[in-house]
Amino acid sequence: RQDNTADGRKENVRRSGAAGNISIKQTGKRRDIMEDCIFCKIIKGEIPSNKVFENEYVYAFRDIAPCAPVHVLVVPKKHISSAMQLTQKDDALLGKIFEAVNEVARICGVDKSGYRVVTNVGRDAGQSVLHLHFHVLGGRPFMNDMSTPNAGCEEH
Ligand code: AMP
Ligand code: ZN
Repeated sequence: RQDNTADGRKENVRRSGAAGNISIKQTGKRRDIMEDCIFCKIIKGEIPSNKVFENEYVYAFRDIAPCAPVHVLVVPKKHISSAMQLTQKDDALLGKIFEAVNEVARICGVDKSGYRVVTNVGRDAGQSVLHLHFHVLGGRPFMNDMSTPNAGCEEH
């Protein structure tokens, strides 16, 4: 099948299930972006990471510069640049991502105390890695801090 990419080109995508791909074949500029993408490299094991959880659709690992005692990044294995590129066809994948978020919270022991889930989109939000990811933050209160997790980084 063919899907439209974020920049309007066609890409050939082989899907293995309703929630997205484990086997994805992409062409042209899109492939170059993925080959340069640090999170795609982490998923492939080409860059080391501190893994917390993994399944067919999602990879979760500790943030290298944590803003809280628990700071895990939950990342779809499919390369999607940001939440802005999500469409209805990703609804099953989003369900898988949030199942993984909640599993990560249980693994890290913050499911009872609570946690914050953040995704940054674009420059003003401070998105620094252009591969969709959800920060799972916990182990400290965030009550009066609605800013991005990075804003609290200096103190933690
Ligand atoms: P954002 O600023 O929302 O795009 O988040 C990107 C996050 O990725 C930041 O919190 C970084 O600390 C984190 N990060 C960047 N490189 C790595 C890496 N190699 N391993 C783990 N986390 C990373
Ligand atoms: Zn990527």
